[in-house]
Amino acid sequence: MSTPKLIQGYEVVIGFETHAQLSTQSKIFSRAPTAFGAEPNTQACAVDLALPGTLPVMNRGAVERAIRFGLAIGARVAPRSIFARKNYFYPDLPKGYQISQYEIPVVQGGEVSFYLGDEKKTVRLVRAHLEEDAGKSLHEDFIGQSGIDLNRAGTPLLEIVTEPDIRSSEEAVAYARELHKIVTWIGICDGNMQEGSFRCDANVSVRKPGQPLGTRREIKNLNSFKFMQQAIDYEVRWQIEQIEDGHAIQQATVLFDPDTGETRAMRTKEDAADYRYFPDPDLPPLVISKEWIERVKSQMPELPRAMAARFVADYGLPEYDATTLTQSKAMAAYFEATAQACKQPKLASNWIMGEVSRRLNAAEISIEKAPVDAVMLGAVITRVSEGVISNNAAKQVFDALWSEEGILTRRSEDEALVKIDSYIEIKGLKQMNDSGALEQIIDEVIAANADNVAQFKAGKEKAFNALVGQVMKASKGKANPQQVNDLLRSKLG
Ligand code: ADP
Ligand code: MG
Repeated sequence: MSTPKLIQGYEVVIGFETHAQLSTQSKIFSRAPTAFGAEPNTQACAVDLALPGTLPVMNRGAVERAIRFGLAIGARVAPRSIFARKNYFYPDLPKGYQISQYEIPVVQGGEVSFYLGDEKKTVRLVRAHLEEDAGKSLHEDFIGQSGIDLNRAGTPLLEIVTEPDIRSSEEAVAYARELHKIVTWIGICDGNMQEGSFRCDANVSVRKPGQPLGTRREIKNLNSFKFMQQAIDYEVRWQIEQIEDGHAIQQATVLFDPDTGETRAMRTKEDAADYRYFPDPDLPPLVISKEWIERVKSQMPELPRAMAARFVADYGLPEYDATTLTQSKAMAAYFEATAQACKQPKLASNWIMGEVSRRLNAAEISIEKAPVDAVMLGAVITRVSEGVISNNAAKQVFDALWSEEGILTRRSEDEALVKIDSYIEIKGLKQMNDSGALEQIIDEVIAANADNVAQFKAGKEKAFNALVGQVMKASKGKANPQQVNDLLRSKLG
């Protein structure tokens, strides 16, 4: 590991607690639906509210998702874990306790690794435990009242806790992104941060190098990567300032306000003892057999790291490309389909990381919504690699495809090539491979640009580029730039 980056002589220490909402149809202990956006208080049943006479029943789908997570991060999946009651009073928790796991969680240990630039970083996980979500307070400022929506009560969560291994806000964001990628990749969480499906709490402290851990403050409910970085940066500066001013840090729970960019103390932090945890008498121990784990293992998708390694080995891609293309399953699938269509993996990678990503970002859409599918992109790349069109012309073709409606209809590779070829024909984009015609253009450009020719002969390389530019322009972009270079150089001696 490299030496830690210091801020004003302080080392930053961060541990994460992330709540990933598990993508089950029904609640963790009841049959009530989990769908987002329903009318308030239409999706909480008697079990979710722990009304007398009801009993919770464990949702197998939630357990299975926890097992998937454990396998994905190389953790131990406990053969027997225990549900506990975490007791506290809060308006959004009328039953007075949350069912969670305390002493024996279902997932134990494991780690998450990621790259920050060239540097590989590994964050150790302490545990991941199953628990139910609480309801939500709704503050209706315009009528000056608050209400409680209990739809979320009983929604299954996996709380994923790290060791305090993170050393900067950049690492924190990279960790959170990696974790987000894992849970969405293995299909246990939809990852929708706006809807609260993936919420991070960052525990932040600072210390002088070599000193014991400082007192932490916990920033709650960071639900965007941008705010996460801003909040941690602010918090670190605030803590250092406090310490430098001679104040001790008080352990506290704080909220980040995106409008002011500041963190604000919400309450002083409770200790575990305040929650009076005890095993929930309504739920038997959660027993997971070896066979169940094996069955889940056999259904696991290829994980991003393994897939990236395969991209390097099978397609000869650089590590960087392989890592970038495996940021999401959809992106990786798009790449493989494109590479398959054009048999040019590196060109496919360049196009996807360049042109395609640029347009996706500009349109703020994900690759599933790309108007040009992998087969069409493959056809464009095929024609470039055959020298039929130049890279520039290919970008024009690609642009046209991108803005055309209804391109999503599935085409075979042959149909895609026919479509591309007709477009190349209509727009007259075919690359000029006839050297006779090109020589004529070059002769004309040389004759008309005596200045540049003289400057080039006097050793100015810039003048040569200007001549190449003139030729490309005169050919309406259809000349092959390499051929122009070669011919021009030989003509100018
Ligand atoms: P609690 O029981 O209060 O939630 P935990 O011991 O479970 O506390 O720790 C919660 C999170 O805080 C973990 O991710 C842990 O790594 C992190 N953490 C603990 N101590 C520190 C510290 N001094 N600085 C930063 N993070 C810390
Ligand atoms: Mg904790």
